[in-house]
Amino acid sequence: MTQSLLIKYAEIGIKGKNRYLFENALVKQAKIALKRVDGEFVVTKEAGRIYVTTESDCDMDEAIEALQYVFGIVGICPMMQIEDNGFEDLAKHVIKHIEDNYEDKNLTFKVAARRSRKNYPMDSMEINMEMGGVILDAFPEMKVDVHNPDIVINIEIRNKINIYSKIIPGPGGMPVGTAGNGMLLLSGGIDSPVAGYMVAKRGVHIDAVYFHAPPYTSERAKQKVVDLAKIISKYTGPMNLYVVNFTDIQMYIYDKCPHDELTIIMRRYMMRIAEYFANKEGSLGLITGESIGQVASQTMQSLAATNEVCTMPVFRPVIAFDKQEIVDISLKIGTYETSILPYEDCCTTFVAKHPVTKPNINIIKRSETHLEEEIDRMFKEAVETAELIEIRRD
Ligand code: ATP
Ligand code: MG
Repeated sequence: MTQSLLIKYAEIGIKGKNRYLFENALVKQAKIALKRVDGEFVVTKEAGRIYVTTESDCDMDEAIEALQYVFGIVGICPMMQIEDNGFEDLAKHVIKHIEDNYEDKNLTFKVAARRSRKNYPMDSMEINMEMGGVILDAFPEMKVDVHNPDIVINIEIRNKINIYSKIIPGPGGMPVGTAGNGMLLLSGGIDSPVAGYMVAKRGVHIDAVYFHAPPYTSERAKQKVVDLAKIISKYTGPMNLYVVNFTDIQMYIYDKCPHDELTIIMRRYMMRIAEYFANKEGSLGLITGESIGQVASQTMQSLAATNEVCTMPVFRPVIAFDKQEIVDISLKIGTYETSILPYEDCCTTFVAKHPVTKPNINIIKRSETHLEEEIDRMFKEAVETAELIEIRRD
């Protein structure tokens, strides 16, 4: 038996001449996602529609779950696709569709027919009326409600006929790979995985960099970041994660610079190093989980001081979000439980008791001159010794 799904996509439907590029990217990502599911799936594109079909006797719920990770998909509809053998045959299939899908028939419904093939002998209104009558005869418990029905029975008359009534939500957004590359500064916290997810949701392929400070940060802290990268890669696809040993640079800043400026100077070096890897991966921007006012290093003044060293755009998708709003997304995407594991972060290890909250860029720059002797060598060493972990889907 053929089992099929209709994939609905919204925004990519309106991209004019480039539309096929987005559709092709979505088809490609859907295929990649379905590789993880037992069974042979065929993903096809046909006149503004994407279909997933399989002849194998596989679990469609698993296929649906896999597709819920594919950006660009707004809805997944389990569908019955039949040949056009006249209205009576269509009616039989619609009845079977209701029987198969709804045990409790105590439902309100409406029929929504659409004809893209105008030579069908009935128009949409006629199909709605006739089919409504057929359904009421077959299931007397069911009632029509055209304004707020429990179920909408969609009938699409194309070369073949599609019948579906359930729309399972997808993640929305744009297919990954349609918007260039970005480099995520991924820490073990709550915010940066969410930031990476959000930018990837707009079609950006992401890679990541993590600043590790052994022995102040443990292997477990690093493993936590790897685990977070794996979770977000379920949505974003494979990524390269660079683990930079940041200890020497941190210690050097600690030795040479005023302690209340430590975090800002450290963050400026993080940005500089992240840019190095961004250039290496062909990224067009950096991505961080910063949010205005969340901590001393994220006041407007601190953000300006950190940003000042960057030559490429820095994308901060959670900049105006409250913590709870970020937490809500992390719960939804499945990173929260890992993010709250209590391992130390390199920023907390060296944090000053009273960090500056309104750093003056000129003063910060002057403090950084104290690093002149060793910092270039240390920078070079940090990028050269970085460990590359290839995060791939399991
Ligand atoms: P998060 O929850 O993402 O860790 P945070 O609230 O702890 O954020 P900070 O520690 O000030 O905030 O970090 C701000 C941003 O800087 C993070 O969102 C992340 O993008 C980046 N960042 C911080 N520490 C690291 C690190 N060790 N490695 C990579 N990026 C980092
Ligand atoms: Mg953090």
